[in-house]
Amino acid sequence: MKTLAIIGSTGSIGKSALEVYEKNKKSFKLISLAANTNLNKLYKQYLKFNPKNIFLTSNYKNKKIKKKCLISKETFLKKRKKKIDFIISGVSGYDAININFQLIKISKKLLIANKETIVCGGEVFLNLAKKYKCEVIPIDSEHHCIDFFLKSFNLKKDIKKIYITASGGPFLKKKINYNESLNKVINHPTWKMGKKISIDSSTFANKVLELFEAKILFKLPTNKLGIKIESRSNTHAIIKLHNNIVLPIMHTPNMIIPISNCLGVSNNFKINLNNFYSKYHDVDIKKFPIVKLGFYILKNCTTAGFIIFTVLNQRLVEKYLKKEVKYGEIVDKLVKLFKHNELLKKSKKNIKNIKDIFETINYAKKIKL
Ligand code: NDP
Ligand code: MG
Repeated sequence: MKTLAIIGSTGSIGKSALEVYEKNKKSFKLISLAANTNLNKLYKQYLKFNPKNIFLTSNYKNKKIKKKCLISKETFLKKRKKKIDFIISGVSGYDAININFQLIKISKKLLIANKETIVCGGEVFLNLAKKYKCEVIPIDSEHHCIDFFLKSFNLKKDIKKIYITASGGPFLKKKINYNESLNKVINHPTWKMGKKISIDSSTFANKVLELFEAKILFKLPTNKLGIKIESRSNTHAIIKLHNNIVLPIMHTPNMIIPISNCLGVSNNFKINLNNFYSKYHDVDIKKFPIVKLGFYILKNCTTAGFIIFTVLNQRLVEKYLKKEVKYGEIVDKLVKLFKHNELLKKSKKNIKNIKDIFETINYAKKIKL
């Protein structure tokens, strides 16, 4: 029996992870579930799934729930005699970087959905994980498919190009209004996800983050990375080889598949190949200018540029959620900010250690929006 903990269990990734756990209870001992502040939902999950304990990653206090099962984050993170076999990290946003840097010390395998940690932590995060003998396994569907390909076939040197695919989001075939309402923005056609990633999918910021994530995880040169649209989200990555063989990697758009595969358990999806559709096309960069910015950063900046993009985008999304900026301003402001000389200079800085990462995060947090 393998030990398992799910951090961010109250979110969309957490829900899929718990579904996989429920179907495979005999294979796992559930150690912990964790949320940020939503203790009510977390406690309900405790009653339903019966983990050993639960904890909050924030300092939020809920005086109504005083249960023995509720431990502190510090207790969970303290050094253990035996590392946890699998930790699934489904926390959202760049703040997750703090907890993920801790999780690599106490887990044998970290199944990571949080792209912000890979994008901002970069090589520093991956090297540290190696030092702690923790295998970092991406479960973002595109990266899961690429990872699966690279681990299954010895063909890395034969790769001409890898395309990560995008559904195109809710506005692929619609006009985008500058004042677009949240309901329309998060009405994703093929995936059910948390608010932040749904907004990012609508602007294509999510695909930009995924490009950065792929570059870091698979150590690919920029000219080997591309984006294609496949509106049904059955294809997650397309591998083009030098011999002109092209391999689209497909699965039903449901996070249960990458999570089950990475936990080494089967899933019982019935695949109807007749529903699989593979018409690919390019992104309209006039309509989605963030993609042009993303490729500029990919080509010209270091991890510092990835960090600054991540933080500024998240701050703008948070402002949009609080109705402090209009929908169109998220991309407009981001594109304009990346024209400033000082910001561009900072975006090319070498990131050598955790201190550099947090200094760059703090710099981006202070930029006037
Ligand atoms: P949700 O918003 O649905 O859930 C986020 C989870 O993280 C909740 O459990 C929440 O706790 C917790 N959380 C929020 N803020 C913090 C914080 N500052 N520190 C610690 N925990 C926090 O997000 P998703 O599940 O959609 O996404 C999670 C991550 O996975 C993101 O990085 C996203 O990009 C990535 N991802 C998601 C996919 C999906 O299908 N949803 C697909 C691929 C990647 P609480 O309930 O207390 O707020
Ligand atoms: Mg993805």
